[in-house]
Amino acid sequence: MTTENSKETAKKTCPITDILESLRKQLHTEGQLPAKIRPAVARVARIVTEITLGRGSVANLEELSKAISELGAIAPSIANPVAASLKKDREEWENHIAGNLCSAGTCFLPRSAPCQVACPAHIDIPSMMARVGHGDYSESLSILAADTPLPDSCGLICPAPCEDECVQNAVSGAAVFIRPMKHVAARCADIKPDLEKAEPTGKKIAIVGCGPAGLTAAYYLAQKGHEVEIFDEREHAGGIMRYGIPNYRLPEYKLNAEIDVVKQLGVKIHLGYTVRQAREFLDKGYDATLLAIGLQNSKRLGVPGDDQDFVIGGMDFLSAVRSGKNPRVGPHVIVIGGGNAAIDVAMTAFRQGATKVQMWYRRNRKQMPANPHEVELALAEGVELVEFWAPTRIHPDKQIEFERSRYAPDAKTTPPVTVRADHIFAGIGQEADLSWLEGTKIETEWGNIVCDPVTLQTGEPGIFAGGDIAHGASTVVAAIGSGKRAAESIHSWLMGVPADYESLEPKRRDEVPFLSSTPEHRTSPKRAHIEENDPSTRKFSHDFMQKDWDEKVAAVEAERCLRCDICIGCGLCELACIEVGAEALKMVETKGGRMVFKDFTTPAEKCIGCGACTSVCPTGAIIVEDRDGYRVTEITGTVVRKQALEICSCCGETFSASAKQLQQTRDELGKMTREGILCPACARARSAESMKEMQWMAQLF
Ligand code: SF4
Ligand code: SF4
Repeated sequence: MTTENSKETAKKTCPITDILESLRKQLHTEGQLPAKIRPAVARVARIVTEITLGRGSVANLEELSKAISELGAIAPSIANPVAASLKKDREEWENHIAGNLCSAGTCFLPRSAPCQVACPAHIDIPSMMARVGHGDYSESLSILAADTPLPDSCGLICPAPCEDECVQNAVSGAAVFIRPMKHVAARCADIKPDLEKAEPTGKKIAIVGCGPAGLTAAYYLAQKGHEVEIFDEREHAGGIMRYGIPNYRLPEYKLNAEIDVVKQLGVKIHLGYTVRQAREFLDKGYDATLLAIGLQNSKRLGVPGDDQDFVIGGMDFLSAVRSGKNPRVGPHVIVIGGGNAAIDVAMTAFRQGATKVQMWYRRNRKQMPANPHEVELALAEGVELVEFWAPTRIHPDKQIEFERSRYAPDAKTTPPVTVRADHIFAGIGQEADLSWLEGTKIETEWGNIVCDPVTLQTGEPGIFAGGDIAHGASTVVAAIGSGKRAAESIHSWLMGVPADYESLEPKRRDEVPFLSSTPEHRTSPKRAHIEENDPSTRKFSHDFMQKDWDEKVAAVEAERCLRCDICIGCGLCELACIEVGAEALKMVETKGGRMVFKDFTTPAEKCIGCGACTSVCPTGAIIVEDRDGYRVTEITGTVVRKQALEICSCCGETFSASAKQLQQTRDELGKMTREGILCPACARARSAESMKEMQWMAQLF
């Protein structure tokens, strides 16, 4: 039963999108539509697609009505719902055409590459990778520099949300290995990006916290011409990247090199500075303040006995190690938690003396928030994962009690256990000390600073918040995205100009030619990998554990990218191909209705080189052209069909036909084409003439 309330909250859908989805579904369900009606269905779907892309016109509506009535003659059950919608939702159709207006907001959306959309910093991933593939490392680094000051660090430690959204997951089952491409670009670039600085604005900004959010905001604000100073209470710059991420994952010298880029923009970094009051910089004459202090303290386990000296916060431990305090632990260490920080703690424990390291987690391996590759690395070093247990009490004799967690399938029947460990680490999250905000208008909630989600402005005018302290514990790349937003908001606030938040949206940073690759490789599930040092030796060393990724291997991996920046996945080409009856292009629907080529080999046998696809493609992602005596069909750089051009012995025009077509011509029209090969037009004309001749002769007898 539908209640009034549920009617109100139900998500609005677009009737035009609904129709398109239904038509596509029927076309993609194998065996659903008889071959003879597929072209007519594809024609209707193609016209509807044009409308959803904002390429519709009044002529399109007329063409659509005609296409629907043609389809109605052979498949009324498919044509009728479209015809009904054209009548019932006429206004919506007209709005789509006249003003690119979709009341549900599902049409006319920008179609950036899914990886770029998923990246919180919106790095132009396809262009960056294509540059790596071409060996243009400096250009690749310039693309990165437009969206992050920390490309090398991201290339080493980012959990790569971009890879989760990569369309190769749907095509081959293995995302393009995007993360280390940034590291290759940073490592191999001969020329560092030339960062331009605007004229000085005379405005002075204080940033509290020298982690990824603070460094990013400083990087952009300095380029906008502001004077920027960062204040941090630690001895060294880098925040979580220096004190919370082990050296074996992010070596100090690499981080220092990236911080130097920010300093070269004129940003001053004051270390060992404890901020006492949120307003102190405004009171000292700074024009704005950004609070980007991160979450530096480990959360306690919250069970009786968690305050004993052998129960240590995971982040405190990592920080002590990176500060050079060399804390020794073990021999038996238990880490409670299942995130990336817990993994870092477990692996660092081996390097600090532990011989037996266990991670006790309340769910199972699949449900761990840690990056699966990081989990593999930890297990390879000998970390034991103990699933479905939650701690309940820690005794002074270092005994820790666990109960079966409620997520365990046998939670009700398994009794509690008690184990002994020399050190117990809490790896369940971080928090910040916010007591110094008391007496200001800045509110806090759940341990974070409350700020406007768009402007990041706090309750205190001129004070903004960014990074983990604003959005909660997250990744370095999320902090970079937040730092970019903070910089835009602060600039707008200081200069009295509207904030250009559109500039933070995914953007193409370069026009990079396609990489050429074989059809098989484009859909290959073989994803490249990076070798790490041997687990049996690396587990005792803080040295960088990853071997350098060979740039040639990176280039081959870059070829697996399907260039979703250029092929926007509209599916028009596939529909046009079905319409002409060739059925050479095969696409699969991915998230958000994006179509993607699922095989690059079928065109070799089925493409007839007619060019219908290229004539409808809005971006030039698919090309059919004559080159050096061949008609070539190319999809985002991969030649999928190459057919020698024939010269018509009648009209002299070059033409291309599929092998099957040529054979048919020879078989059926063989007698009439003894003198050579005819192009389809001449063959048809010759056939008609011959027919007339036969009819005339028949009349004579
Ligand atoms: S195929 Fe390339 S452009 Fe498309 S989502 Fe994957 S990495 Fe991004
Ligand atoms: S090749 Fe062109 S027509 Fe085909 S899906 Fe990509 S952008 Fe659309």
